[in-house]
Amino acid sequence: MSRINKTAIGDIEIIALTDGATQFGTELFPGTEETVIQDILAAAKTETIDTNFNAFIVKSGSDTMLVDAGPRDLFGPTCGFLKDAMEEVGIYADDITHLYFTHLHPDHVAGALTPDGQAVFAKAQMFISEADYSFWNTQTFTDDTLLQWQKIAKTTLAAYAGRTEQVKGGDTLIKEVTTLNLPGHTPGHMGFRVDSGADSFAHVGDIAHSQVLQFADPEIGIAFDIDMDMARTTRKRTLDMVTADKMTISGGHMLRPNIGRLERAGTGYIFKEDH
Ligand SMILES: [Zn+2]
Repeated sequence: MSRINKTAIGDIEIIALTDGATQFGTELFPGTEETVIQDILAAAKTETIDTNFNAFIVKSGSDTMLVDAGPRDLFGPTCGFLKDAMEEVGIYADDITHLYFTHLHPDHVAGALTPDGQAVFAKAQMFISEADYSFWNTQTFTDDTLLQWQKIAKTTLAAYAGRTEQVKGGDTLIKEVTTLNLPGHTPGHMGFRVDSGADSFAHVGDIAHSQVLQFADPEIGIAFDIDMDMARTTRKRTLDMVTADKMTISGGHMLRPNIGRLERAGTGYIFKEDH
């Protein structure tokens, strides 16, 4: 089974790497009626709320950037295949020059750590938003889950200490690749955009964990969003932008085939695979 999907924007090569998959229960969408969810699933001819965990390789000149690293072994045997996906494209850990985390949730950073908390990507400069860096370093949580997530976030920052760069929205990561501010899921949650030649691409981060539900109805929020209202505003604004600008898109949790474009459909959007 292939775990990769590729596109090119001008001179920039973008490779989506699928680390694994899982399914969500309807309880993860608080504030959305069960019947609303079931109606959307039925219209999409599916009974389950599926999600994938995606990392990305972006190649620009001599730079090879890895974006996110999957959950490693934290979510069981259906995840943790980043290394296999990288091998499929002939890229190995020491080839990574830039490591960019869209945010510091465990399903995006654990794959960049060994089980004992060491850095997997020995030669990479690490990039994270200022806001997420500060949030995970300074918050005092009482919730057990958030405490566990904070521990992994801090382990990640420690493993890449001394070679970490904090970035803001619109900053350049590598040539023709810039950060895209997407606050709400976490305070400093970001995607990235590629603008090369006449074409543009947007990685929309985690604005949709279930594309079937949240593209069809962008009002639907997920419990993992630290600020669900801000995440909803970001989701609506970003989906609007990528549709209006006819951008090629992908994201942290999109299902294979995970590179394509959005079109408006009623009050929501429909995803069309790129050919
Ligand atoms: Zn995520």
